[in-house]
Amino acid sequence: MTAVKTSLPRRKFDAVIVGAGGAGMRCSLQLAEAGLNVAVLSKVFPTRSHTVAAQGGIGASLGNMSEDSWYWHMFDTVKGSDYLGDQDAIEFMCREAPKVVYELEHFGMPFDRNPDGTIYQRPFGGHTANFGEKPVQRACAAADRTGHALLHTLYQRNVKARTQFFVEWMALDVIRDAEGDVVGVVALEMETGEIMILEAKVTVFATGGAGRIWAASTNAFINTGDGMGMAARAGIPLEDMEFWQFHPTGVAGAGVLITEGVRGEGGILLNSEGERFMERYAPTLKDLAPRDFVSRSMDQEIKEGRGCGPNKDHVLLKLDHLGADTILKRLPSIREIAMKFANVDPIKEPIPVVPTIHYQMGGIPTNFYGQVVAPKSPGGPSEIVNGMYAIGECACVSVHGANRLGTNSLLDLVVFGRAAGNHIVEQNFKAKTHKDLPADAGDFSAARVAKLMDSKDGESVRGVADDIRSNMQQHCGVFRTTELMDEGVEVINKLAKRAEDVFIKDKSKVFNTALVEALELANLTETAKATMVSAAARKESRGAHAHRDFPERDDSNWMKHTLWYSEGNRLDYKAVNTKPLTVETFQPKKRTF
Ligand SMILES: Cc1cc2nc3c(=O)[nH]c(=O)nc-3n(C[C@H](O)[C@H](O)[C@H](O)COP(=O)(O)OP(=O)(O)OC[C@H]3O[C@@H](n4cnc5c(N)ncnc54)[C@H](O)[C@@H]3O)c2cc1C
Repeated sequence: MTAVKTSLPRRKFDAVIVGAGGAGMRCSLQLAEAGLNVAVLSKVFPTRSHTVAAQGGIGASLGNMSEDSWYWHMFDTVKGSDYLGDQDAIEFMCREAPKVVYELEHFGMPFDRNPDGTIYQRPFGGHTANFGEKPVQRACAAADRTGHALLHTLYQRNVKARTQFFVEWMALDVIRDAEGDVVGVVALEMETGEIMILEAKVTVFATGGAGRIWAASTNAFINTGDGMGMAARAGIPLEDMEFWQFHPTGVAGAGVLITEGVRGEGGILLNSEGERFMERYAPTLKDLAPRDFVSRSMDQEIKEGRGCGPNKDHVLLKLDHLGADTILKRLPSIREIAMKFANVDPIKEPIPVVPTIHYQMGGIPTNFYGQVVAPKSPGGPSEIVNGMYAIGECACVSVHGANRLGTNSLLDLVVFGRAAGNHIVEQNFKAKTHKDLPADAGDFSAARVAKLMDSKDGESVRGVADDIRSNMQQHCGVFRTTELMDEGVEVINKLAKRAEDVFIKDKSKVFNTALVEALELANLTETAKATMVSAAARKESRGAHAHRDFPERDDSNWMKHTLWYSEGNRLDYKAVNTKPLTVETFQPKKRTF
């Protein structure tokens, strides 16, 4: 047996889950109920994870409002992904959807109801009946607070199942042994600054997205891409990081999200001429075309001088015609947000909105059991990484391909959180023994922390982080060009160097805020680098990646997933799985709506 040198305190669990959002807590519930000893780590109290902010709904073809089918849902998701999604995983998700939603209902999730007692469903972008014929009502909603209802329900079930929560604990790095297997994580107790090793037979990443690599974002401040950073540092590639969703309706100037559910309920977008311009771009689905489509149309209107306001830099979202009753019943939080952040009451006036960064389609590569698939050592072939799973927004299964449909993320969390849990139980991790820790376990993270705590001078963390954010905003926006992105790569490579020598002034160990922000910066940097480098390389337009110099989709050269490796800052590619599990492949077609 290898002697472990580390003097760091250690604790052992069957499973360690990093992240207490919808994905992490759906998985932990499955494990705790099966009798595994589970630890869930979170930088914030579980119910403050970003899932709590999800507004509009969770997609499932329940057919409560009109006829629907999982097969139509699958078609919409494949088409929405601009044919980059893996069709086996998409079939799995859409088939599982009704089951996982009913399960949530039975857990006690307070969905809105129809008069007959069934779950209320609203229309959402890109969701259609009969393969694109007309919009369908598929988004199961709890007013405009669906994520809130979901996350609180899952938390309560976890408390009942005796899941152990490590609240305000930040995972720093994943521990891989000489065979490339994952044997746990190193984590920081944020309040005391103490570092500990959490040994696990299985480690699950559920760390959410990284919207905070951008200046204008709908994401929570904690969404700094820690999962991506930890994976990248451990030699695991990041998949499809060039694909980031701009949500069409962020409050102009504030970034706060106005759910697509507003347009689902009948809200419309207007330009400065009072024109409902989406009718021109998407004659069938209009304001409910998928997000990449609507964001580009808005950007075009603004660029052509039909933006609103003194600077002509936004468009208007009108919903007063829905009537006060509908707004107060179905969209109460939206009214509150509009009043607080835009100073308008949507019962009377339209809300000023602009496309705002919202969601990462890419992430840590997994199969549809949630197992991480990556080389065991640099340059090797991709294979299953023993002992490691990734689920939720930090993972790339890939069900969202180049563009996610609204409501498919909450669905992704519960479908794959549950599937990963089931797979771990089936693999009988409970009965397995812990692998030995490598002799140097924890040294790397401890050295990172020591370097920051000893730093005497250097750049400010905030300064570098702000420069990263403005670089992304400037060089990797809704529309991209070769020149802009090449410049962006140069800038991010320089910023990554600057990020290595930051200085933290406030070393008081009270809550360690400055230390945490500096550690987060390392993760922001990896995620931003992955995004910029992957984007600059893709010479086509697909889904959310809109390239002015290559305006068409190029299936013969680019129907493939990107893999970015931190080591060497290099790219590789892998094939899209176009074979569903039981049905025929949906062949790529031009996307019109
Ligand atoms: C404003 C908003 C509205 C949205 N509305 C919808 C919607 O209506 N429908 C829909 O389908 N999708 C929606 N989305 C998208 C969806 O909500 C997210 O993709 C999803 O909630 C992400 O869930 P998650 O479980 O992967 O991560 P999160 O909920 O983001 O949770 C991440 C967890 O990881 C923890 N964590 C991160 N790093 C570390 C670390 N280093 N150490 C320890 N813990 C860590 C955090 O503390 C947190 O507990 C919305 C997103 C936003 C931002």
